[in-house]
Amino acid sequence: MSGINMSKVKINNRSSILKLLNSEGPLSRKDISEKIGLTPAAVSNLIRELIVERVVQEKGEVENEIKKSGRREIHLDINYKIKKVIGIDIGINCTKIAISDLNGNVEEKIEVETKTDIRAEDFLNSIAKKTMELLFHNDLSKDNIIGIGIGIVGVVDPETGISHQAYGIWDYDVNIKEIFKNIFKTKVIVDNNVRALSLAEINNNTEVTGDNILFIKYGPGIGSSLIIDSRIYYGSHNNAGEIGHMILDYDGKKCRCGKKGCLESIVSKNAIFEELEIKDKRDYHESTIDFENMINEYNKPQEQIIKVMNRVSFFIALGISNVISIYDPAKVILHGKAFSCDRFINRIKKELNNIIPKINRNNLIIKSHLKENYISGISIAIDEFFYKSGGTI
Ligand SMILES: [Zn+2]
Repeated sequence: MSGINMSKVKINNRSSILKLLNSEGPLSRKDISEKIGLTPAAVSNLIRELIVERVVQEKGEVENEIKKSGRREIHLDINYKIKKVIGIDIGINCTKIAISDLNGNVEEKIEVETKTDIRAEDFLNSIAKKTMELLFHNDLSKDNIIGIGIGIVGVVDPETGISHQAYGIWDYDVNIKEIFKNIFKTKVIVDNNVRALSLAEINNNTEVTGDNILFIKYGPGIGSSLIIDSRIYYGSHNNAGEIGHMILDYDGKKCRCGKKGCLESIVSKNAIFEELEIKDKRDYHESTIDFENMINEYNKPQEQIIKVMNRVSFFIALGISNVISIYDPAKVILHGKAFSCDRFINRIKKELNNIIPKINRNNLIIKSHLKENYISGISIAIDEFFYKSGGTI
């Protein structure tokens, strides 16, 4: 049955089953019925359909461990390999294109330089061409994919797929969704890259329940996303949660966004390298910040790098403290290579405790569970075109 002919209630029920299987599966029909509160008969009917559509598959019989009844139950799980998804991440220096299964496992990936010296449309057409080639080399056609998810820096309207301000990549409105829809004739979703990553985070991080979270991605710039009641908070103009463009030094350097003294203008990779008078010898592939690597790789005294790292820690903590004042998140999740350095995270915690005295915030900050190079577009495409549609692919 196609999604168009299916009732909203049914789509929601299928969606609940799939989300449950994704977070807790494999599960038996009985488990599913108990956990989502639908009758066993209703669950059986929905599962029957999902199996016929090959979206769900039986994983064999397993002894009912909890009840010790000796009754054997058939466990079910999502058939994550049934379709693929294309994820694209347009970053400041590097654009990544990947093919993933429905579980977010990247099967194939390429990286190209983000071109800022040509028209946005020309650059996006070249990315579309590379994506076509990637599909072709993997013997895939658009019938094998459920859709394309694109994450990009800056201000994006996910409803229209228009990038309104891609800080330094282009400074005019670009309808990314339309360009890719016209070329691929498939479903396309576009969102801010950090928001897309935060969605993947709350779906994968068992340490958080997803209620109120500040998610920060650091390297080469700094961006954040606010999760309120398990949903991304966009604000009225898709501008909410831009920690990177919070002004922390009004007389500071000019930022890519046009303002002065933004957090990003103080802690970005460019700012750090400028301060340390390091010329970045790496190409566009390496867009991360790695303080430990800096000590080993660049001929600079360790004390000098630590001094810069401490200054960066202070300003990131200051940004977090300002967000706490307004929004009081349950957890702050840090994502990016830089945070694999414990010294750096501990320094941020220390600075935060100094800035907000009397309340210990050590348990507030946790590390991301996502891989450092996770591709943002994948998560939004899977969420939008698989889970929200109840698996009607
Ligand atoms: Zn800025």
